[in-house]
Amino acid sequence: MKESKSENLSDQIRFVLIRPTHPGNVGGVARAMKTMGLSRLTLVAPVVSLPCHDATRRAAGADDILAGIDVYDDLSSAVKDCRLIIGTTARKRSIEWPQLSPREAAQNLCRESRQGPVALLFGQERSGLANPEVEQCHYLVRIPTSPDYSSLNLASAAQIMAYEIKLMSGTHGSSDLRELPRYADQESMSRFYKHLEEVLLELDFPIARPPVKLMRKLMRLFSKARPDEEELQILRGILTAVQQQIAKKC
Ligand code: SAH
Repeated sequence: MKESKSENLSDQIRFVLIRPTHPGNVGGVARAMKTMGLSRLTLVAPVVSLPCHDATRRAAGADDILAGIDVYDDLSSAVKDCRLIIGTTARKRSIEWPQLSPREAAQNLCRESRQGPVALLFGQERSGLANPEVEQCHYLVRIPTSPDYSSLNLASAAQIMAYEIKLMSGTHGSSDLRELPRYADQESMSRFYKHLEEVLLELDFPIARPPVKLMRKLMRLFSKARPDEEELQILRGILTAVQQQIAKKC
């Protein structure tokens, strides 16, 4: 397995804020990241517009991180090259998703950042992550809190996760890298899900149209399985063969 080209592995760990509404929080996250040696901040469909006084004030010297922010219209574009995506959430979700502790999440992010970009997602201040965003995650993380009040400020949650990453960085040797499969990236997984849904709809299979719930379950299954590039190619090949059979019968 080749080591990523980046000299600095922390450049490969992307903090992704989804639809942030308060510029001060964006500044606070930039500061939290900088204190722990992280630098890649991404915003998805931000409701805030930058540069802005509140963001700069709360960044308190982390202006370089604000200046280097990447902005995307949608989450898929922001994480298409990532092989590991972890979402943070304040509450237990109605959809069951594999969970990690903050430390385990940090460990996995550090380990897999040796292979390429990885992402840690943060939801909107008021509503958190929406279900379609959770579906793009391999794991969810909940920072333990008082059972009476679990919702941390966005920048505080980012600070805790950045600290955990700092603790875990540098703890993985090259032997870890050899054991790491070449997991499929998010863009390939999205194409596979689209193909799978297409085939399910072509089959005479009793499903809702569109099969939202079934697709969610299948996405959870494949997120848990984490196919590598070769395994995903095999699955795509099977889907294509099924489509060819269907076409012959028509
Ligand atoms: N009502 C929302 C709270 C959003 S707080 C919810 O239930 O998710 C804004 C963001 O901060 C969350 O989406 C999450 O990314 C992060 N966050 C807040 N508290 C957290 C906690 N206890 N554990 C993990 N992330 C948390």
